[in-house]
Amino acid sequence: MKSIYSLSLDELTSDMIAMEQNPYRAKQIYSWIYKKNISSFDDMSDISKPFREELKKHYDFSLPKMENVQVSKDGTIKCLIRLFDGELVESVLMHYVYGYSVCISTEVGCSMGCKFCASGLIKVKRKLLANEMLGQVMAFNKYLYDFNKSRISHVVLMGTGEPFDNYDNVLSFVKTINSPYGLEIGARHITISTCGIVPKIYAFGKEHLQVNLALSLHAPNNDIRNRLMPINKRYPIEEIIPAIIDYQQESGRVVTFEYIMIKDVNDSLECAKELVSICKKTKSYVNLIPYNKVVENDLSRSDNKQVNLFHKYLLANHIKSTIRKEFGSDINAACGQLRVKKDKQ
Ligand code: SAH
Repeated sequence: MKSIYSLSLDELTSDMIAMEQNPYRAKQIYSWIYKKNISSFDDMSDISKPFREELKKHYDFSLPKMENVQVSKDGTIKCLIRLFDGELVESVLMHYVYGYSVCISTEVGCSMGCKFCASGLIKVKRKLLANEMLGQVMAFNKYLYDFNKSRISHVVLMGTGEPFDNYDNVLSFVKTINSPYGLEIGARHITISTCGIVPKIYAFGKEHLQVNLALSLHAPNNDIRNRLMPINKRYPIEEIIPAIIDYQQESGRVVTFEYIMIKDVNDSLECAKELVSICKKTKSYVNLIPYNKVVENDLSRSDNKQVNLFHKYLLANHIKSTIRKEFGSDINAACGQLRVKKDKQ
């Protein structure tokens, strides 16, 4: 028995052909599941009864389980998702004026070891399969449907893990949620965030997708970035920037630079000046992120005054920039706070 959610449209189509059915059946089934939120073959009224019985023998509707659901004062919801092999990852649902966005994890643990991030405290155990990423979206989609008949409109790959460390599965997942027969989440409503795995940035450009790319830059020079992000020793800024330029030539897209504001580390106006010169080489947009405290390190959040000064400096130098709105900080659901504690495993 396979979970029906684990099949891409192509895989389901091949199964239909193997079962001597019209390949179009796959699109019908997909449409019931993803457009009409149906989770039983009995409700698929345009499929013959005998074939529905046949389908039941092959597939079920199992999804990873949502556990420990926590709701923040601002409505943000964080939960643990129990995968079929028992591993746990965290996902977060945020409610914006423009819709519901889910932040999903792409790996169990993370190997990148960024100093400011709680997720990297547990080494990567394994990469998630495409259907395990889909499972996180579908679990929340079901939750929302039951709650107020709404649905997920945006997906960000910014939870635990490095998406480009799990490139093939991430791409397959993105194509599935973007499919017009599936959830049909617009490419521009999907954001992949990477710490800068250079060869994969080049590869991603060649995909010619309209998916948003965000780069976790967090420092305007190698000296500071090496201290914060060990991956910078492998792929330093002077290699990342040409990769970003190449990606932009291929895709025509603006890239978001994520920049966590850490007190006395990367928040000086000198840093802002260096950041401006990086941004001027690319078509970019800077998202300044208030640092969320992680107890295991001694970093602290920049003062609001300094964040505003930094922001103003960017704007005055014609760099588009915003300060990220914070969600769910009272339930440890904010950026960089996702972790599955060892005692929960
Ligand atoms: N590996 C990917 C995706 C996971 S990190 C990447 O590096 O982009 C997702 C975002 O959360 C990144 O911008 C990351 O830098 C940010 N983040 C991590 N720890 C944080 C913290 N303590 N405070 C604020 N943002 C944090």
